[in-house]
Amino acid sequence: MKIVVFSAKPYDRRFLEKAAAGSAHRLVFVEAGLNADTAVLADAAACVCVFVNDVVDRATLEKLAEMGVRLVALRCAGFNNVDLQAARDLGIAVARVPAYSPHAVAEHTIALILALNRNIHRAFNRVREGNFALDGLIGFDLHGKTAGIVGTGQIGAIAGRLLAAFGCTVIAHDVHENPDCRAAGIAYVSRDELFARADIVSLHCPLTPQTHHMIDAAAIAKMKHGVMIVNTSRGAVIDTRAVLDGLKSGAVGHLALDVYEEESDLFFEDLSNKIIDDDVFARLLTFPNVLITGHQAFLTNEALTNIADTTIANIDAFEKTGEPRHPVSVERLAD
Ligand code: NAD
Repeated sequence: MKIVVFSAKPYDRRFLEKAAAGSAHRLVFVEAGLNADTAVLADAAACVCVFVNDVVDRATLEKLAEMGVRLVALRCAGFNNVDLQAARDLGIAVARVPAYSPHAVAEHTIALILALNRNIHRAFNRVREGNFALDGLIGFDLHGKTAGIVGTGQIGAIAGRLLAAFGCTVIAHDVHENPDCRAAGIAYVSRDELFARADIVSLHCPLTPQTHHMIDAAAIAKMKHGVMIVNTSRGAVIDTRAVLDGLKSGAVGHLALDVYEEESDLFFEDLSNKIIDDDVFARLLTFPNVLITGHQAFLTNEALTNIADTTIANIDAFEKTGEPRHPVSVERLAD
């Protein structure tokens, strides 16, 4: 099968070529992101392989359908960038990688919390400049603090257990309770109670209409003064402007982000020679108590291997049976 891999980075090529070795698939890697204008690059392909910021809306899917594309293989878990109804209307199957390494994302969450709290990012720069002063680097013990996990699926459950291992009291909110979390001593509370009690609020829910801008001015007003907010889920779960106001007033004491609601114009590219014209993002970068990584929580050898293997397994299954191994569709969402 001819597969056009959009938004392809060198590591995508390396891991996907290894996973497809020995198969009859023909992989074509393009650096461009997929959208209605670039869909033409999928000419003569039966499958497009896409990532988090590719725009798989109705206009794109219509172009893909016209060219004979029958499968959109997401090499990620989230599928908020795909118009599933349009895919169904056009007879295009959609596959995803439901779990590739929840450990990778949960461990990155902990890395952000530790680095931000203990000012590792600032200490690194100071020491390199011969500045060994400690003023401004005071952190807090995680032990004894309350961590609130929003979304206790695969990633949130692991993040919760890791925080419990640091001696945090872990509380959680989810629309479906996870028995493994209960067994680990994690107590479920309402969202408002979590906001009111947590010293650290860590977001692990998907981006849906219900979670869009879940962290807004009203939510921040319910939180402890100086709360630490951590987002490794999807950018638009946070209303960035509201958090910016919270940072200015001190209501938000620390902010760690691996995702950002306007990240599609920024992340995954080297823009170091360009002017960043996103003023909200630029303002975020000015705070000493904000730590941002560019959507790299998934980036481990184990996760990339699993992503590539599952993506090729989805494509193999679709070729043999007409159904990918891990389909995602409007019908399944309604289940
Ligand atoms: P998952 O589906 O296993 O868990 C998501 C959990 O969120 C579920 O338990 C679900 O019930 C819960 N949820 C849904 N709506 C909710 C709501 N309104 N309020 C509270 N909880 C709600 O997903 P996962 O594999 O744990 O991934 C979580 C999210 O992390 C993904 O949706 C994705 O957006 C993000 N992610 C980010 C990266 C990264 O590199 N930064 C990598 C993988 C996944």
